[in-house]
Amino acid sequence: MRFSALTQLSCPRCSRSHDADQVTNVCTCGSPLLAEYDLAEIRAGRTREEVSARPATLWRYHELLPVRSPDQIVTLGEGMTPLLPMPAFGKEVGVPHLLMKDEGLIPTGTFKARGAAVGVSRARELGVKNIAMPTNGNAGSAWATYAARAGMGSLIAMPYDAPEICRRECRVVGAELELIDGLIGDAAALVREKLAERDGWLDVSTLREPYRIEGKKTMGLEIAEQLGWRCPDVILYPTGGGVGLIGIWKALNELVELGWITGPLPRLVAVQASGCAPIVTAYEAGAQESEPWPDARTVAFGITVPKALGDFLILRAIYETGGCAVAVDDEDLLAEQRRVAELEGTFICPEGAAAFSAVRALRASGWIEAQEEVVVLNTGTGLKYPSTVPLPS
Ligand SMILES: *Cc1c(COP(=O)(O)O)cnc(C)c1O
Ligand SMILES: [Zn+2]
Repeated sequence: MRFSALTQLSCPRCSRSHDADQVTNVCTCGSPLLAEYDLAEIRAGRTREEVSARPATLWRYHELLPVRSPDQIVTLGEGMTPLLPMPAFGKEVGVPHLLMKDEGLIPTGTFKARGAAVGVSRARELGVKNIAMPTNGNAGSAWATYAARAGMGSLIAMPYDAPEICRRECRVVGAELELIDGLIGDAAALVREKLAERDGWLDVSTLREPYRIEGKKTMGLEIAEQLGWRCPDVILYPTGGGVGLIGIWKALNELVELGWITGPLPRLVAVQASGCAPIVTAYEAGAQESEPWPDARTVAFGITVPKALGDFLILRAIYETGGCAVAVDDEDLLAEQRRVAELEGTFICPEGAAAFSAVRALRASGWIEAQEEVVVLNTGTGLKYPSTVPLPS
């Protein structure tokens, strides 16, 4: 049994396959690529009990991750975040079986560390020396941090309006930082411009590099394992680029194929801010792709993505699982952030708060039923966004 059962990269749009051991961005058709594994090999060679006996980091799932050699792993101890019951908030909103997967406890304070750990490790394994990315902040601080750990250079471009702490995180690890008067798309244009003049740099923009999603999918693997190898009824995820949601969906499908869990899969809910809700609009229209959102603006900065490269995959995940997409006003998500803190003693990020607000709304509309088991992803710690809580003057 190999350390990684990675076989190839394959295109979810045109089905073309690509060599996984070459540095690759997107498919020739423009679609993101997804990693494939020899699941039959894992099924024959490993049990879920063996996996559960390993150290509590995301690397316990190494057969289902792309890094071929254990020596190439770049780690800060990421993964196996708590799956916490939320009884008081759950009681208030009428969902007694409510759980929170708390990504606030991970290195760099957001789940972006998962994608960075696996993405940087695999990039290093393939010989990459420098990485570059546009970001809304949290991905940039995570990738810059893991790049430093790997001895790689990094170029990070982010909007001025991104959380200030993310800039400081990039500075302290020695990243080259560019601040943009604009949104993530403008940052992406700058990265492309800069890289056109450089050799040996890899563009690791969201879904332009196939391994970040493999790191993020470990949220889905952990949720299933932490529930005793089974699925909840509903999972809510604050969705920007959608990598986490697509990753969770991919992970659960892989576990079903391995025979480690049985279906049906949970109904996946993409939660967005009403100031930037392209997936919600597409979902409500029954569309297969989203339209770019004009004048995107929300305090939930990590989900300000006007047009996601993987929008068709997000929508496919929602439709295939019988899920939905919900938009939440900034005012409501900020109120929910305080309410969760008061009732449960945990300071969640505004993106996570949007997902809690969506639980309240979906229970009120009857879409979530009272006895259902519901998991909310809190994608980061509130400590990264101190200004979301005003102080008395
Ligand atoms: C990036 C980010 C998200 C959105 O993640 P995607 O997987 O790109 O949809 C949600 N919450 C926080 C805190 C983030 O940093
Ligand atoms: Zn393709």
